[in-house]
Amino acid sequence: MSSHEPKPCPFCGRNPSVYYDKNTCTGDLHGFYATLQCTCLDDAPSVVGGGKTKTEAFNDAAQQWNTRPIEDRLNAIIAAQAQYIDRLESSFAVAEQYIPKDSSFWEPRIGTAKLIESRINESRAALDALRAEVSHG
Ligand SMILES: [Zn+2]
Repeated sequence: MSSHEPKPCPFCGRNPSVYYDKNTCTGDLHGFYATLQCTCLDDAPSVVGGGKTKTEAFNDAAQQWNTRPIEDRLNAIIAAQAQYIDRLESSFAVAEQYIPKDSSFWEPRIGTAKLIESRINESRAALDALRAEVSHG
């Protein structure tokens, strides 16, 4: 069931409550419904899943609850930004090898290189801070 562990509520970050109902629409037991619900808003976010067993119903509900297209898109953008910073950093590391650090002729370029390096580090720190904020709610 761990692969269907419900994510925290997208609005408040708390774990949703789980309720089960029997599916007895024709008088016989046909299976179960599982409702995942958070009560943080007046119009409480909830999803209902169904299945032959409670576990199936829960997994169906959890799969719906965990479907987060906007969150997935934002995570993809963050991952792309991280890749961009990685590429920038490795390009800078290659370029840095060609700057003779002890030559006074190159002093202004060393200053520029240090500025670029600090911008890369700032970008990485900002991205890491954003990730930490997102993952800790
Ligand atoms: Zn909530």
